[in-house]
Amino acid sequence: MAQTKPLPDVAVIGSGVFGAWTAFMLRKAGATVTLIDQHGPANNRASSGGESRITRAGYGPKEIYTRWSIEALAIYKDFYAQTDPTLYNETGFLWMGRTNDDAYMIANLLAFKKFGVKHDVLSREEIAKRFPAIGIDGLAWGIFEYHAGGLMARRGVATVVRHLVKNGLRYEQARVVPPAPAAKISSVAGVKAGQFVFACGPWLPQVFPDLLKGRIRPTRQEVFYFATPPGDPAFRAPLLPAWVDPGDTIYGLPDLENRGFKIAPDGHGREVDPETQERVVPQASVDKVRLYLQKRFPKLAQAPLAQAEVCQYENSVNGDYLIDRHPEHDNVWLLGGGSGHGYKHGPAVGNYTANLVLNGGRTEDLFALKTKTLYDPSNRSSTIPGK
Ligand SMILES: Cc1cc2nc3c(=O)[nH]c(=O)nc-3n(C[C@H](O)[C@H](O)[C@H](O)COP(=O)(O)OP(=O)(O)OC[C@H]3O[C@@H](n4cnc5c(N)ncnc54)[C@H](O)[C@@H]3O)c2cc1C
Repeated sequence: MAQTKPLPDVAVIGSGVFGAWTAFMLRKAGATVTLIDQHGPANNRASSGGESRITRAGYGPKEIYTRWSIEALAIYKDFYAQTDPTLYNETGFLWMGRTNDDAYMIANLLAFKKFGVKHDVLSREEIAKRFPAIGIDGLAWGIFEYHAGGLMARRGVATVVRHLVKNGLRYEQARVVPPAPAAKISSVAGVKAGQFVFACGPWLPQVFPDLLKGRIRPTRQEVFYFATPPGDPAFRAPLLPAWVDPGDTIYGLPDLENRGFKIAPDGHGREVDPETQERVVPQASVDKVRLYLQKRFPKLAQAPLAQAEVCQYENSVNGDYLIDRHPEHDNVWLLGGGSGHGYKHGPAVGNYTANLVLNGGRTEDLFALKTKTLYDPSNRSSTIPGK
């Protein structure tokens, strides 16, 4: 009779989107899992703690992310159909192009063909006709993805964790202190386990300062919600999709759940501490966004600001995730570096990580610790444009 290897107990530290979905996939494989978080699932300070996040499949030449977008969206849809279908809004996604020979957009089209991603190529006139709120000044063309849109971020993570707890996951609220460098780790915060996954998002460099300080860099990111004109459907799907305008390094979402039109600069702000940064938005930031609105969404140029959020990206040097074994502890895994685009991939990242933890093997170079060189603050944008 074939002997099956017993599965290890696993402690997952951090219940943002990466930790929650890793716990989900570990449970699905039959492992005993404890999920630990210092402030609670998708808390206000966590990178997964915002209202909404974009999902889309276009990742230029980085095919693995296109594949993961497709895989993750299928899992999201299936899980939300059973729990709360309002957690995904299929608004579509518009990529705005400034030049006809935009290499990233052309690479998107090749990937879409290869992976069967339903899309339209739109001329600037077609953009104006289909999405009347968008001013087309400076735009040359666009790509519209159909199966894309807005995931409700903090509610989504809370739903995953609630579902897991209902089905046997142990959840603990505790702050895990960094493990001693040489010691073999067998427990954290009083929780014994055989394997440990540190999915601490922007806190990861505080937990492992010697290894990750300067390699994962948390930067301040501001998000704005503008109130839309009463009774005007132009700022909701299907008249407005999620969108990115890489020429101005800015992106947004249509009005979801009546929170207003969401818009946020994607360029990296100053380095911050996720634990202590103040989350107040200065007037100068609002004014800057209004300048952009005048050009691209002129009807909203004078719209009242309805809400603002301050969050942080946890950037790796080039925007690729960190999913690797700790070099000194063979039962410790590092998971993070979401770099402003990780939410959409939560279930796929969870699958990948759970497989490494349970079955061993080597991570791809793209996600390996050795490829996480020092972040360069003078180059403040990721090589992965958009969200
Ligand atoms: C403004 C903004 C917009 C974004 N837009 C998009 C988008 O449109 N599409 C997209 O796909 N992605 C987007 N992202 C990126 C995405 O949200 C992140 O990549 C993702 O949420 C990171 O999740 P995480 O689980 O790694 O980190 P987090 O969500 O930060 O979770 C880490 C958790 O670890 C816990 N923790 C940390 N240290 C400890 C400790 N010592 N002990 C116990 N617990 C600890 C924290 O409390 C926290 O809950 C955006 C991010 C931001 C900030």
